[in-house]
Amino acid sequence: MEKIGFIGLGIMGKPMARNLMKAGHSLVVFDVNSAPVEEIVLEGAERACSPKEVAELCNIIITMLPNSPHVKQVVLGPEGILEASCAGKILVDMSSISPLVAKEISSKAAAAGLRMLDAPVSGGEPKAISGTLAIMVGGDEEIFAQVQPLLLSMGSSAVHVGEIGSGNVTKLANQIIVALNIAAMSEAMVLATKSGVDPEKVYQAIRGGLAGSTVLDAKMPMVLKRNFKPGFRIELHIKDLMNVLDTAHSIGVPLPLTGHVLEMMQALKVDGRAAEDHSALIRFYEGMAQTEVGNVTDQP
Ligand code: NAD
Repeated sequence: MEKIGFIGLGIMGKPMARNLMKAGHSLVVFDVNSAPVEEIVLEGAERACSPKEVAELCNIIITMLPNSPHVKQVVLGPEGILEASCAGKILVDMSSISPLVAKEISSKAAAAGLRMLDAPVSGGEPKAISGTLAIMVGGDEEIFAQVQPLLLSMGSSAVHVGEIGSGNVTKLANQIIVALNIAAMSEAMVLATKSGVDPEKVYQAIRGGLAGSTVLDAKMPMVLKRNFKPGFRIELHIKDLMNVLDTAHSIGVPLPLTGHVLEMMQALKVDGRAAEDHSALIRFYEGMAQTEVGNVTDQP
């Protein structure tokens, strides 16, 4: 099977790389952090010293990096992918970045013969581990068809949504829905708790009804255990919502609820919680109401 390049072995990238290997692919990997590289190399991958070397060794390169500047650096920077000879090769950027930057990188890549898809994911670390991510893909449909089987070894769905940049527009829409869901869950559970009703029972009572959601099922158990280990860090959700607002403002779309939730996340960042899971958004509401969800005995 074809050798695949994989750059960015963080919370998401590492399990995604493992699933590619499980599907029988040989991997060539690179990350600026050597610890996850050591781990994946011990499991059978080949180490590269730069993104350029990854691109020299592979025809298909996947990137899973924090944000737009990191993807720009890896593709366009010194020792970057475009310093290799790239004609006919494919770049699948699975990071969540600005759609405008995805288009900019794609047009520079195209000039060097490198064809690019933007293919961000949803589902978080648990679905990255189980290989059941939802993958949203922008770019040429023919390239999509070529890499679809590869994507389906990391995800349970891979949907082509339009031209390059559309994958990230879809991801921004996804991130609005997730952020606002966590905020709604937080408001509701702080109210229930301060009213003296056990939030765990409220969760069990409503999860099968219209208020039930994937977000509620993923995040409420974490809140009840006071487990805010990421998962998805608040700082990354801030990054996504900033990309949401930049994109929205550039085309004249006001997003009042997103603006509010972004400011709550900013407040938590100032409070030293940027590296906690985004379910820690509930702490903002708990602070205002002087109530901790999961602890009904303290209530008036
Ligand atoms: P992470 O910070 O855990 O991982 C990013 C990795 O990229 C790190 O290992 C880092 O060392 C590496 N890196 C940074 N700059 C680099 C460079 N110049 N060259 C090589 N490697 C570099 O982040 P993550 O949680 O894995 O998220 C990755 C992307 O996926 C982000 O865009 C995030 O928004 C998105 N995402 C995350 C989740 C989640 O739940 N964590 C869910 C869906 C999407």
